[in-house]
Amino acid sequence: MTTSNFPSERTVVLTGAASARGIGRAAADRMASEGWSIAILDINAEDAKAAAAEIGSNRAVKAIGVGADVSDEASVDRAITEIEDSLPPIVALANLAGISSPTTFMETTVAEWDNVFAINMRGTFIVSQRVLKGMIERRLGRIVSISSISAQRGGGTFSKVAYSATKAGILGFTRALAREVGEFGITVNAIAPGPIDTDIMGGTLTDERKAQLSEGIMMGRVGTREEVAALIAFLLGQDSGYITAATYDINGGLQVS
Ligand code: NAD
Repeated sequence: MTTSNFPSERTVVLTGAASARGIGRAAADRMASEGWSIAILDINAEDAKAAAAEIGSNRAVKAIGVGADVSDEASVDRAITEIEDSLPPIVALANLAGISSPTTFMETTVAEWDNVFAINMRGTFIVSQRVLKGMIERRLGRIVSISSISAQRGGGTFSKVAYSATKAGILGFTRALAREVGEFGITVNAIAPGPIDTDIMGGTLTDERKAQLSEGIMMGRVGTREEVAALIAFLLGQDSGYITAATYDINGGLQVS
């Protein structure tokens, strides 16, 4: 069996892609430039719609933004139904919605723990399961979920135990789901970024903070959103049909430092 031919009209759903300075928005821009129809699903409905409007006008592709909480099954079902009714078939899903947890272990409350797991892990489960219904029917699909180097190295300043545990969970989720859906021509992979220049770590990174974060990184700098976006686009694209259950490190060499 060879790589499936993608339909010329196809949609990628990107969760957590509303933030103008986030990885998801960069991935949406990149995939729009490759001709994908774009669906941005984010808890921030206003920014999701604004991002989609900008992408649609810049690239002349179809793009919609839908407000939804990934941790809420009914909210996700409504959002995906709206996307299915408005855009070409969903061929790809990028699970990017996530929050960090800078609280130390002994200070973490059960409510905080549950909230990080609800968004980072349960959200990934809910959205993937909903989108997979159509993918399985069409026997074609690509899923990428964002883990983190925190899963491998045990966190950092803004990513302590709860966050690291969810991002390690993404790795088991990815491998086990890949095993179940491979027979339907669907690939499932994870990307584990090191520090990337976005606002998730408590606001825009100062030069001083970037210099601190760069210590131990072979390439001597933090990564860019566009670099992660290029990897997402590759793993969701037609040429990656024989890659599944894999985790791609993208961290300038930090994983062996
Ligand atoms: P970001 O804060 O720009 O993006 C996160 C997005 O998720 C936001 O648009 C936010 O509105 C959305 N979101 C939050 N809760 C949601 C919910 N309940 N439902 C729907 N959407 C929700 O951050 P980013 O840096 O672009 O992060 C994207 C992903 O990459 C996250 O999963 C993050 O953990 C991961 N990651 C980031 C880095 C980094 O250094 N920036 C490193 C490793 C992994």
